[in-house]
Amino acid sequence: MTKIISVPTTIAAAQKMLKNKEITALELTNLFIKRIEKFDDVLGSYLETSFDLARESAKKLDESGDFSAPLAGIPYSLKDVISKKGLKNTAGSKILENYVSPYDATVTELLEKSGAILLGKVNTDEFTQGSSCENSALKLTKNPWNIAKVPGGSSGGSAASVAKHLGLFSIGTDTGGSIRQPANFCGVTGLKVSYGRVSRSGIISYASSFDSIGPIAPTVDCVAKVLKVIAGYDKKDSTTLDISVENYSDKINGENALSDLSGKTIGVIKEFTDAEGFDINLKKSFEDTIAKVKELGGKIKIISLPLTKYAIPTYYLLVKAEASTNLARYDGIRFGETANVKNLADQYTKTRSEFLGEEVKRAIMMGTYTLSAGYFDAYYIKAAKVRTLIKQEYEKAFTEVDAIIAPVTPFSAFNVGEKTSDPLAMYLADIFTVTANLAGICGLSIPTEKVNDLPAGIQILGKAFNEIEILEIGSVLEQKYKFSEVRERELV
Ligand code: GLN
Repeated sequence: MTKIISVPTTIAAAQKMLKNKEITALELTNLFIKRIEKFDDVLGSYLETSFDLARESAKKLDESGDFSAPLAGIPYSLKDVISKKGLKNTAGSKILENYVSPYDATVTELLEKSGAILLGKVNTDEFTQGSSCENSALKLTKNPWNIAKVPGGSSGGSAASVAKHLGLFSIGTDTGGSIRQPANFCGVTGLKVSYGRVSRSGIISYASSFDSIGPIAPTVDCVAKVLKVIAGYDKKDSTTLDISVENYSDKINGENALSDLSGKTIGVIKEFTDAEGFDINLKKSFEDTIAKVKELGGKIKIISLPLTKYAIPTYYLLVKAEASTNLARYDGIRFGETANVKNLADQYTKTRSEFLGEEVKRAIMMGTYTLSAGYFDAYYIKAAKVRTLIKQEYEKAFTEVDAIIAPVTPFSAFNVGEKTSDPLAMYLADIFTVTANLAGICGLSIPTEKVNDLPAGIQILGKAFNEIEILEIGSVLEQKYKFSEVRERELV
């Protein structure tokens, strides 16, 4: 007789089932594969699956009987900008539609060593540029809470698949909000790590001085467990720092785990709460979070970060400049598709015109303009200076507060197609998230409750390399809200 087992909804629950031999790694993998087969036609989160490989690895694990590796048997997915040897790495772009990675990214290697089981690659806005996943040239991903809505972006495939339990975690990237914002729209947890905490080696970059790699997962503990595996110095990425990696999960669950927020001073950014266009219901929900922090013994301190008003222009100016140089390699010669051409000039222009999407072309034009001789000082250098000032503003704030709580997005998940014709409106989706990337600090997005009939949440921002602080605070707030119960009731 076949056992009927319901899908575990956290990494810890899956580990317990594996340990107690209630389920084999292969059965666990098959549970998730079945869910993908059942639900992903509608959801559209996976671009490529690697089920044979997954089953093979799970079987090997069962045969070895050794489940001591930290994520042994845990099924997951990778955003389709993270290399896995032998699988495609499309970046959601037509130009890389048939490109196959020749090697593993460092994170992929680390996850493999940790025993995690890769189910496949998930959708992203093209070259991770976007806030709704609609810039993917390959697939439309929908929000599992309401399929008329976008899942957010650019890690929309990661967030949608994790929310629908089509994997126990996913690795995404956050350049200006691409982990925190889709996690928020889909009611899951997402961590933007400090710049330099996780290796970027083997990732298709958007803006190299902003990109960060991190987990999207059901709960804070799941995120903590994955972070332990992927964090740390890597000689292949000279921007990673050799700062010790803690046992985050043990710390948030152990004997000395925080039970409340007493002794913590939590900042609230005045310029965020006063922001124009901040949805009134989300604002109320955020005020409720402030009240909860106080109930939990935390001290709220209102802080002013006046440079916030320059964040969006500074961010977009700098990332599009970096993007324009990073994208120069996609000319159809070394990578990807090539147009049918007769001469070298056409090789570049036709290939790029034909195979790159609107937002990416916008980046190339904007970036090339701001980097060109006559405009470099006025735009790029100026923005780089403002970036430094924003960073200093945050550094100063963190001398007064332990962490900052903030909204993640000014509005709830919007309708598919609603903002595609207005790039500026789309850029404003990132108004609360880009500063963390400008400053290089860490941020954890956690769901709190349903607002406007969709998931809502907050982000907790922490000092660079102080991931433990925001995970601890996040875990306390998570226990107060218990949003997982809502998600499991509605999406499992
Ligand atoms: N939406 C933002 C952008 O297009 C953020 C993207 C990201 O973090 N990758 O730049």
